[in-house]
Amino acid sequence: MVCFIDVHCHLDFDSLYSSLDNVIMEAKSAGVGIILTNGIDARTNRLSLGIAEKHSIVKSALGIYPPVGHFAENELIKELDFIRSKRKNIFAVGEIGMDFKNAHDKKVQENVFVSQLGLAEDIGKPVVIHSREAEKEVIDIMEKMKQGKVLLHCFHGRKSLIGKGIKLGFYFSISTNVVRSEHTQMLASLVPLNRIFAETDAPFMSPFKEKGNRPAFVVESYKKIAEIKGITIEEARNHIYMNWQRLFQ
Ligand SMILES: [Zn+2]
Repeated sequence: MVCFIDVHCHLDFDSLYSSLDNVIMEAKSAGVGIILTNGIDARTNRLSLGIAEKHSIVKSALGIYPPVGHFAENELIKELDFIRSKRKNIFAVGEIGMDFKNAHDKKVQENVFVSQLGLAEDIGKPVVIHSREAEKEVIDIMEKMKQGKVLLHCFHGRKSLIGKGIKLGFYFSISTNVVRSEHTQMLASLVPLNRIFAETDAPFMSPFKEKGNRPAFVVESYKKIAEIKGITIEEARNHIYMNWQRLFQ
């Protein structure tokens, strides 16, 4: 059934995990039927799998996100093998990407990123990408590798990079901070309806200043997307649901 989808969040965070049953119940009442929770390291990857096992509306994505300099080589290989071994339980490889803000491990980051892109193609899964101060590098690498199924979440790159991503067939998700972020509003206006998703990035990016973010609030993204595109919320929901089926099924 067509439902709202929170395509990116972190249910393993204490603030959500400690009251998970309520968080899920609240999301269901808001009409959210799919939540993709993303791991970023060995610990959160296992939590992501466990949560998805327990709650049918939660789907799991596994990945390794920077900083990665502290990983020993054999630990990295072990985690990549773990992700591969769970390919039947996951919907995507994510969250992955590069973060060059104050980074001293750029080369390692690139190697880890490229390995995970290769792994995702191998096991036929989409990738969920986040990048900070490395947006151009990330897009260039994926272009070179001819990455097939890509979702760029919380994309902060400039207009020309958004245009390049669209040309390459990538998808973009609009986080709930779209209610006040001009950059995210600009992103929502540029991305065509057959490439758009909505996300909370909970517990971050809350649309409400006084409240921590949670998957139920993804509806705020849908409202804003509908407003920007000049369509109804139902139409936005239909488009995004079709995009989910195209990219993740
Ligand atoms: Zn995230």
